[in-house]
Formats: sequence, structure tokens, C-alpha cells
Amino acid sequence: MTAAQTALVIGGGIAGPVAATALTMAGIDAAVYEARPADPASANGIGGSLALEPNGLVALRIVGADDDVRAAAVPITHSIMSIASKPGREMPTPQELGPRQLIDRGALHRILRNRAERAGVRIHNAKKLIHVDEHPAGVTAHFADGTQASADLLIGADGVHSTVRRLIDPKAPSARYLGLLGFEGLVDDAPDTASLEPGAMTFAFGRRAYYLYWKRPDGRIGWGANLPSPQSMTLKEARAVPAEQWLHTLRTAYANDVPGARLAAETTSETLQAVGGLHIMPPVPRWHRGRMALVGDAVHAPSNSTGQGASLAMESAIALARCLRDIPDAAAAFATYERLRRPRVEKIAARGARISHAKAPGPIAQRMMRLMLPVMLATMNVEKTMAAEQRYTIDWNTPLQEDTKTLA
Ligand SMILES: Cc1cc2nc3c(=O)[nH]c(=O)nc-3n(C[C@H](O)[C@H](O)[C@H](O)COP(=O)(O)OP(=O)(O)OC[C@H]3O[C@@H](n4cnc5c(N)ncnc54)[C@H](O)[C@@H]3O)c2cc1C
Repeated sequence: MTAAQTALVIGGGIAGPVAATALTMAGIDAAVYEARPADPASANGIGGSLALEPNGLVALRIVGADDDVRAAAVPITHSIMSIASKPGREMPTPQELGPRQLIDRGALHRILRNRAERAGVRIHNAKKLIHVDEHPAGVTAHFADGTQASADLLIGADGVHSTVRRLIDPKAPSARYLGLLGFEGLVDDAPDTASLEPGAMTFAFGRRAYYLYWKRPDGRIGWGANLPSPQSMTLKEARAVPAEQWLHTLRTAYANDVPGARLAAETTSETLQAVGGLHIMPPVPRWHRGRMALVGDAVHAPSNSTGQGASLAMESAIALARCLRDIPDAAAAFATYERLRRPRVEKIAARGARISHAKAPGPIAQRMMRLMLPVMLATMNVEKTMAAEQRYTIDWNTPLQEDTKTLA
């Protein structure tokens, strides 16, 4: 295969615009095709907030979007863990790496898309990929509206329910539902949260469900709920349920939690956002085939408990572009990309799977957790766990050696 000149990037969420920007920086002309219609007001339809870890900020620096993200985000300087409404304990964090940044998902999308457009990327909305024709000279993508587009390569950045993953390998695993539905709400400050400092985020294991909350710069409290539910729901299905009905369910689930009960009680149908089922990706056997490769949640969605989904998605997008920049044969570049990225993302996914199991503990497990927490926090090796994960950087400026044995 000769060096690629053009690429179609399927998906305009987080990995897609970053991949397209990095590909353009690597000398490959890239265009993004996003299924959703342009809808900046509704955060690409999804809403809610995202925390980006220091390694995600380093990735953003490579594509020149870190300053814009920091300007729109809130730094989270303290993390607190609380079990069954007992006073929370501060979790150790690797301070020297800088704080994680909490940003509105819609703001992040806008920043990444604007950055891509400034780099020369064309973004096409309302283009849902349904099929790909592969031919010796390239690929042709077919969209639900009957249009098509051709290029040398096709990059699937189409999220956890990826169509490209299935086109690469019809036997590819599907996303696994975590048994939790996601929600985000907003309430005014009140006595039981008045002591919260801006920049402090509390991860709370409630009596029946897990939740997290933080004080926003405007003084209000943002909170996210992970509601156990045997049945998954798409975003559309979750939003078809009247908000008042969800609020009733959330108020019941958090009735015995402080401040969970008040957060649920005071959230209104206007400030509640349902996200739908939370999913992870089990290991994906084929990351690429022929002229197609996957990035982001399409190939490695860890549990949201890792706080690493978006950061890893951006890292992989950049790593893929770097491989294509430095290794002319696309198949060899894709293989190197997989070799570089798979161990890291699968290790983080395994850590996330362990945390997710603990999100809905029964009363005995909660008692155990309460007893163990001080010991766990005191003996936690932050350097070995968090810092190693968060210190990761991609050396964009150094050319890759084709001999992958020498790759760091
Ligand atoms: C409730 C919740 C909270 C989370 N919190 C965090 C957090 O705090 N920190 C963090 O790092 N991560 C978090 N995550 C995970 C994070 O959202 C994902 O890891 C991240 O969005 C992955 O980016 P992506 O671009 O790969 O996929 P997505 O953001 O899902 O983007 C995929 C895009 O592809 C489009 N698409 C899908 N199919 C097609 C098609 N056939 N044709 C064209 N376009 C298509 C979609 O419309 C979408 O815009 C959270 C996830 C959830 C659900």
C-alpha cells in the first residue's frame, strides 16, 4: 500500500475531531462524518460533563487545544471518597501532574471541532455511515442519506456501538452494559454541601446507588448518578421517559443518602439529563483490517469509573496519526498503532472493570468497604497506580522507528 493521502473519519465526538486534526498535521487530508445533525445547543445531543485527566490534557496540547479546554473547564483539585453518607476521606492524587479538568461535553465538542476546522478538516453532519466498499485503491463510505465519500483510509471513531468495528470484523464483540443508567443534575447550594470547596469532587457510594457531586464555579452543585437497572437504554429511550418519572426513581434510590437525597429531591425536570446505559468494550480482537482502523470508544471504552475514556480516545487518535505519518505502509502503521496502544488501554480497562463491580455493593460489602477505606487510602501507591497512568505522553515530535522493538 502506498502512503495514504486522504482519510474519512467516521464520528465527530471526541476521538474523531482529534484524529482528523492529527492526521492533517501528519500531512493526510481528513474529513469527519458525524451521524447526528449539527446541534451545538444540545452538546451533540448528549450533554453532561466530562473529567479529563492530565494525560488527556497532554494529548490536547499536541493538537493545540489544551488552552481552550482549560479556559472552559473547572480544575478538580481534590477527590473525596464517601461511603454510606459517612464523612468523606480525601483520596491521594499525584499533585505534580496538575489537576483533572471538568468540562461540559458540549463545550469540549465545540472546541475540538473548531480546532479541527482551523486545521483544514471538513466536518459533515447528519452523515450516518451504513456501509463501506473496499477496493484496491481505497474505500468508499456509504451514508444513510444516500450519499457517499471515498478516500485512501477510513478511521472508525464512531463510539462504543461502532458500525466500523463490525465492518472490520463481523464477529467483533459488542459493547457490554454495566447494569447502570447515567444521569446528571444540577441544584442550588444548601447546608449539607456548603462546606464543599470549588474544585472538590466527591465520589459517593450511596446505600443503593453510586453518585458523585462537585461545586461549580457558579456556586451550584453538579451531580452525576449511576442508577442500577437490569435493562440498558439508549440515550433516545432514556430521554423518551418523562423527566418527572426519572426524578421519582432517583429520589427513591437516593432517599437514604446525604447529600444524595437532597440532590435528587431538588433536581428539576429542567436540570436533569438522562444519558442512558453505561457500557464498556471487552477486548476487541481486530483493531484494523485493510484500509480501516478504529480509535476511541469504538475499540477501547473503559468503565466511566476510570475517568480515562475520553483521554484514552484522544491519545489513540494522535498515536494512530503519528504511525501513519512515520510508516508509509498503512497496514504496517495500523499494526504498530495497535502494538503501541493495546497494552495500555487494556490495563486501564481491567482496572475500571474492578471499580465498576464495587459501584452497587450490598449492605455487608458497604460495611467492609467502610472498614477498609482508611487502610486502603493510607496504603494506596499513587505513584504505581494513578501517576503511572496519568504521566503518559506521546512523543509527537520524534519520528517513530518502523522497528517496533525500539518503540517506547
Ligand atoms: C455518563 C458518562 C460519563 C462519562 N464520564 C467520563 C469522564 O468523566 N471522563 C472521561 O474521560 N470519559 C468519560 N466518559 C466516557 C467518554 O464519554 C468516552 O470515552 C468518549 O466520549 C469517547 O469518545 P469517542 O469519540 O470515541 O466516542 P463518542 O464520544 O461516543 O463519539 C462517537 C461519535 O460517533 C458518532 N457515530 C456513531 N455511529 C456513527 C455512524 N454510523 N456514522 C457516523 N457517526 C457515527 C456518534 O454520534 C458520536 O458523535 C463518560 C461516558 C458516559 C456515558
